[in-house]
Amino acid sequence: MGFESQEERVTQEQSVELSGSSSVAVAEGGEGVEGKKIIEVGGKRFVLDRKKAEEVFAAKKVINGIDTMTFNLLPLKYQWAYDLYRNMKANHWEPEDIPMNKDIEQWRSAEQLSDSDRWIIRMGIGYFSAAEGIVGDNIIHVIREMVTAPELKLVLGRHAHEENIHADSLLYMISSLGIDPHECEAMFVDVESIGAKNEFVTRISKDLRRDLDMTKTENIQELAKNMFVFGQCMEGTQFYGLFGMILSLWRQNKFPGIGQMFSYTLRDESNHIELLRQLLMQLVEENPEIWTNEFKDSLVDLMRTAVDLEKQFIDDCLPVESVGLNREDFKTYIDFIADRRLEGVGLPLLNEGVKNPFPWLAEMMDIKKEQNFFEQRVTEYQKSSALVKPQDDSDL
Ligand code: FE
Ligand code: MN
Repeated sequence: MGFESQEERVTQEQSVELSGSSSVAVAEGGEGVEGKKIIEVGGKRFVLDRKKAEEVFAAKKVINGIDTMTFNLLPLKYQWAYDLYRNMKANHWEPEDIPMNKDIEQWRSAEQLSDSDRWIIRMGIGYFSAAEGIVGDNIIHVIREMVTAPELKLVLGRHAHEENIHADSLLYMISSLGIDPHECEAMFVDVESIGAKNEFVTRISKDLRRDLDMTKTENIQELAKNMFVFGQCMEGTQFYGLFGMILSLWRQNKFPGIGQMFSYTLRDESNHIELLRQLLMQLVEENPEIWTNEFKDSLVDLMRTAVDLEKQFIDDCLPVESVGLNREDFKTYIDFIADRRLEGVGLPLLNEGVKNPFPWLAEMMDIKKEQNFFEQRVTEYQKSSALVKPQDDSDL
C-alpha cells in the first residue's frame, strides 16, 4: 500500500480530532495510530485511513466488486492484466505503415498468383472483416461492462482497440487491392460456413445483453462461457485456419504486405487469447461454485462445435488444394490447436496425442524464437521502449 511518499509533508507529534472520534493520531514516520496518516497542506489537514483503503482493495474483484470504486487502478490486484496491457501497447502497429505495392502487383498479375490463392485472401478479408468487429463489440459491451476491477477494464479497452486496428487493416487491404467492398458483405451473407461461424459466437454474446443478477451461479456461468467461446474457441481456434493459410502463402513470398499484417494480427490475438484465458481462470478462482463437471462438459461441447464449424470453413477456403495448402492437414491442425486451448484452461482434450502437421507454422507462430526470419520482421516493429513478448503460442 502506498502511503510512504517522501514528498508529503506529514505532521509530527500533533494531536488531531478525527471525524467526531477522540482518537489521537500521532504521525510518526508517516503512519498514525490505527493506520491513519495525516497530511497537512497549506493549513488544511487530511486524514487518510489505510484500513478503509485496504478494505476497498480487498473488495476488488473480477465481477461484483465494490461499486464505489470507479477507476482506482492502484494498487493493482491483477498484476497480470497490467503486464498484458503493457505488452499489448508495446506491439502497437498501424496498417498504413506496411507497404502494399508488391501485393497489388501480384493481385493484378496472371502469372504470379493462382485463382485459389486469391480466393484464400477473399475468404480472409470476408471472414475477418466481420469477425474483428464481433469480437471488439463483445469485449466492450459484454465483458468490459460486467467486470468491475479497473485494471481489467483497462486491458479490455486496449483489446477492443486492437480489434479496431485489425478491422482497419482489412479496409486498407480491400482498398489497396481494389476489391469491391460490397463483395465482402456478400461473402458474409452468402458463404454459409462464414455465417455459421459468426452465428455461433453472436448468439452467446446476445445472451448476456440484458440485466442479469450476477450473484446467481447460472449467470456467472454465462459470462464464463462467453469468455471461453470468444477467447479459446473463436480467437483461439477459429482464427487459426485462415492464419495458417495466409502465412503459408506468405512463406511462398505471396502477399508480403498482407502476410505482414496478419503476422501482427496473430501476435495481437495471442495476447487476446491469453487475456481471456487468465480472466476466465480468475473468475473461476473467485467463484469456484461455477466450475462443475456438467459446466466443464458443456464448454468442451462448445469447443467441439467450434472445431466442426472451422472444418466446414476450411473446405470452403480450400476448394482447390495446392502446395502447403492441404485440407486434411489444416483440419488436423485445428484439432491440435483446439486441444492446446482446452489444455490452457484445464479442460479434457478432444484428440489426445494429435500432432501438429505444420512444424514450420509452429515456428512462425512462436514469435519468441530469435533465429526466425519472420520473427525478426515482427519484432523490428515493436516500440523499442518496451520489448515485451506475447505469452501465448510458445509451444504451438
Ligand atoms: Fe483481432
Ligand atoms: Mn482479437
